[in-house]
Amino acid sequence: MLINSEQILQSYQTSKVAGLDKPQIVHADIESSLQQLAGNFNSSMQLDIIGFSHNRKEIYKWTMGSGPLHILCWSQMHGDEPTATAALLDVINYFSSGCDPESCRALAQKVTLHFVPMLNPDGADESTRENAQGIDINRDADALQSPEGQLLNQLICQIKPQFAFNLHDQSRYYAQGNTRHGVSLAWLAPSGDKGESITDSRRLAMQLIGSLIEDLNTLGNANFARYEDGFSVRAFGDFAAQQGSACILIESGFVADDMNRQCARELNYVALLQAFYRIAQGRFAVQAEAQYHALAKNKAEGMTDVLIRNLNIQTHSKQYQIDVSIKRDNLGVASVDEVGDLHHLGGYNTFDAKGMLFEAGLAYPVTHPLELTNNRYDFLLRQGYCRFTGDLSLINNLTRRPIVRAIGESCPAQYRRKGLSPSWLIRDADGIQAAVLEGQLVILDN
Ligand SMILES: [Zn+2]
Repeated sequence: MLINSEQILQSYQTSKVAGLDKPQIVHADIESSLQQLAGNFNSSMQLDIIGFSHNRKEIYKWTMGSGPLHILCWSQMHGDEPTATAALLDVINYFSSGCDPESCRALAQKVTLHFVPMLNPDGADESTRENAQGIDINRDADALQSPEGQLLNQLICQIKPQFAFNLHDQSRYYAQGNTRHGVSLAWLAPSGDKGESITDSRRLAMQLIGSLIEDLNTLGNANFARYEDGFSVRAFGDFAAQQGSACILIESGFVADDMNRQCARELNYVALLQAFYRIAQGRFAVQAEAQYHALAKNKAEGMTDVLIRNLNIQTHSKQYQIDVSIKRDNLGVASVDEVGDLHHLGGYNTFDAKGMLFEAGLAYPVTHPLELTNNRYDFLLRQGYCRFTGDLSLINNLTRRPIVRAIGESCPAQYRRKGLSPSWLIRDADGIQAAVLEGQLVILDN
């Protein structure tokens, strides 16, 4: 059952469960997916309701195998972090659809897999980090006041898993160290004590993470980092480590223009399957521990959504140069987050405006039906228009760009205005070179 990452990656297209490429995965999604997948379960697999959330929603556990090595994976203990839930369902589909029956059978004799895909269904349905009581379940490992936390505590204490995978999503604004690149996945082998000692099980987790990074690096360029966190008695990963599990925290990150984190989902799928096969075969590259220690650190607030560098601002009396960082909130509304010297930041979409000037832009009066293609939109931008006024219902927008409505004043001549989504132009001596439309960067090619 020696399977390489390439083969696992190839299986992804058939294993990928439909209907989960969306910003939020809710309880009904896993219920319908599990119901569908259950039609293919073989005798080594089992699906149980192991408990209920505070609002009495079912919490499911899928189990496979009868081997002596127990592996516990849980996802979405933070309701608004759904990426790994999709990956766990993809992995279940990989095993149940029988795409590699011989390897699966061999695996099921060595390991027992326990998956809890969505520990926090109430939070998932409300798109909140916390559960329905407002408790962050990952700060409840000691107090155990949430039913979900109590359930996870029981699982860890009863199963005593040799390996525990704690699966989360992290902010897309983390950078990979000082590289000014985003992070595809961040990893941590949490410690089980305040002294952060490297026990045998923690070393095993480090070696496994290092090995998985080597596996994933064979597939192309993803950016990995190490999640930074000290020991906390309130956190479940640390609790599992304290109980003797080799615990692996995976934080799904972000790549440009992948709002639903499908790249991270795929990486999770490959990493988890590789991990299971490696564990079953005892394949831990001892020297891979160095890979773990060599990981760049997660750098908080190191990235932004749109970054305009070196933009010149001309007022009646002064000229100065700034970088502009634009971020989107959870509802997708963009605003200028910061201006000034932002050379330490990376951006998922960037534009170097060196030698170019900020221009507020004009409002285009709509009086006749207007079929707005990319070309037509580009033309208007080049004419200096970046907003519309008049009867906007006459516009048939065939682009993926927003229609910005002019509000009252003819010219909100500010690059940064509270409560206003940034919409303006960037010009040089040859004309308009780029536009920002409600935070969306449009670069005009000449
Ligand atoms: Zn989390």
